[in-house]
Amino acid sequence: MIATGPGDRFVNGLQNPVGIGQKAFARNAPDPLPVTETRSILIKHGIVRNNLTEQQTAMLQAWRRRLAPCFGPQPLDERCRTVNRLLADTASRPHVSLHDGHAPHLHYSAPDADPVTHICAVTVAGLAYVICFASAERLGRCARGACQRVFVDTSRNGRRSYCSVRCANNEAVARHRREKAELAAVAR
Ligand SMILES: [Zn+2]
Ligand SMILES: [Zn+2]
Repeated sequence: MIATGPGDRFVNGLQNPVGIGQKAFARNAPDPLPVTETRSILIKHGIVRNNLTEQQTAMLQAWRRRLAPCFGPQPLDERCRTVNRLLADTASRPHVSLHDGHAPHLHYSAPDADPVTHICAVTVAGLAYVICFASAERLGRCARGACQRVFVDTSRNGRRSYCSVRCANNEAVARHRREKAELAAVAR
């Protein structure tokens, strides 16, 4: 496990909530995230103000769509440009917080920021941390064509190509079948 700073797991959660079908998160325009689903993701990631309205959930949905292009193979400068645009739009204001008896930790929005502003700020700060303190390539996209879920690769060597063991296995099986079919064709 590498330390990639705040937000990386959270971004994973936002982009890939458990329990929603794979297809929903394919490509760059994930399907709407239901209010209840959103809330459980926020709770799971320690977001205190997690009770979003329908409208705030829709805003977060739009933000998820903007986070998506930060993932997957691409030139470094392009990825940084995208992340910088998002950083600029979050109007991040770092703030050392002591809320709920926690040890001092950085928040990326002002204490009075609305919940969506706070979530936008922490998620893109997380991506910036991954790029600056780990490696940009760790912002991955599943190599299985039918999936293409995004993920933050927190593995030790940072060489993950698939979002899950399941996708890796599916691909391995498909590859094996293809090879077998090719061999059979050659033998004929
Ligand atoms: Zn906090
Ligand atoms: Zn996948």
